[in-house]
Amino acid sequence: MNPVQALERQARPEIEAWLKETRPEALAELYAAADQTRRAEVGDEVHLRGLIEISNRCDRQCLYCGLRAGNDTLTRYTMTRGEILACARQAQAYGYGTVVLQSGEDAGLDTDLISELIQTIKRETALAVTLSLGERAISELERWKAAGADRYLLRFETSNLELYAAIHPGPTSHQHPRVQHLRRLRELGYELGSGVMVGIPGQTYADLVNDLLLFKELELDMIGLGPWIAHAQTPLGRFPERFLVEPEEQVPASEDMVYKLIALTRLACPGSNIPATTALATINARDGRELGLQRGANIVMPIMTPVQYRRLYEIYPDKACADESSEDCRRCLTGRILRLGRTLGSGRGDSRRSITTKRLAC
Ligand code: SAH
Repeated sequence: MNPVQALERQARPEIEAWLKETRPEALAELYAAADQTRRAEVGDEVHLRGLIEISNRCDRQCLYCGLRAGNDTLTRYTMTRGEILACARQAQAYGYGTVVLQSGEDAGLDTDLISELIQTIKRETALAVTLSLGERAISELERWKAAGADRYLLRFETSNLELYAAIHPGPTSHQHPRVQHLRRLRELGYELGSGVMVGIPGQTYADLVNDLLLFKELELDMIGLGPWIAHAQTPLGRFPERFLVEPEEQVPASEDMVYKLIALTRLACPGSNIPATTALATINARDGRELGLQRGANIVMPIMTPVQYRRLYEIYPDKACADESSEDCRRCLTGRILRLGRTLGSGRGDSRRSITTKRLAC
C-alpha cells in the first residue's frame, strides 16, 4: 500500500512496514512523495526560527536530557534580560521571522520577566514569539499569551505513556501530561509545536506509528523530529540496555529512521511546519539538514544563543553549531538553503492551519 493510503486509512501494520522499509527504490519513492507534497503544500520557502537558549537550569530529572537537575557536572547559566533582547533584535536584523525562547524547566524564570520580554519583543520587532519553557502552570501560559506570545513548543517525546513516565519522572497520571498540556495550549490560542525523539531506548515501531497518528489528531502547526542522542551524564545514556525492547521491535536512533519519519509526517500532516533539526545535523554534520529539507522539512532553527553559553546548553553531547556565532549560523544555514535551490522564508512562517483559523475568525 502506498504511504498516503496507509496514513489515510490509519493502517498501522502498513505504516509500520514503511518505517521498517530498507529497499533503496522504495525509500526513494517515499522521499520523492514527501518532497512533492512539501512543495505543493508549503512551497519552496524555508523559514528561519532564531533559537535563544535563555537558561540551562532545570528542576526536572528527565532520563534523556543533559540539563536534568541531577547533572551536577554542568555549569548553569541564565541569560539576562538585556542579552535576550539583544539576540531578538539581531534575529530581526537578520530577517528571521520568529524567535524561540527555550530553557530547561526553570522555576527561577520569573513569570513577569518573561511577560515583559514578550511585550518588548512584540513592540520593537515584527517577530513571532515562540516559547519552549517546558510544562509551565496554566496561569503563566495565559499571562504569556496575553503578553503577545504566538506559539508554544512542547514535544510529547513519545505517545507511549508508560515509556514517557519512565523517562520523564513526574506525578503519576492516566493521561499523557504533555498531550494534556498541548490541548490546553491550543485552547489558549497558541500555535502548537510538538514532536518526538526517534530511537529512545524502549521505543517500539508501534509507538512511532501512534506518534504519527497523534501528530495528525492534534493538528500540530509544527512537528520537530530528531534522533535520541546518548548523553553520558544521563541514565538513558549510561544504561540504555535497561530500557531496550526486543531488537526487532526497538526503533534505532538512526539517521535513516529520522528521514523516514520526517517523510511520513509530511504526508500525514501536509500543511504543517517541519524543521530539519539540530539533532539531525549533529549525527550528520555534512548534509543532515539538507537531506531533511529534501525529504519533507521546510524550517531550520539557527542558534542565536551568545557564544559563551552555547556549550552549556548541552541537552546532548557534541551539539552541532556549539562553537559558532549567530553570524556563522546565519551564513552557513542560508548558504545551505540557497544551494538546494530553495528560497529564504519571508514573514513569520505561520502554519497553514493557523492562517486559515485566523482568517475565519475575522
Ligand atoms: N525543557 C524544555 C526544552 C527541552 S530541550 C522541554 O522539556 O520542552 C528541547 C528538546 O530536546 C526536548 O523536547 C527533547 O526532545 C530534545 N532532547 C533532550 N535531550 C535529548 C537527547 N539526549 N537526544 C536528543 N534530543 C534530546
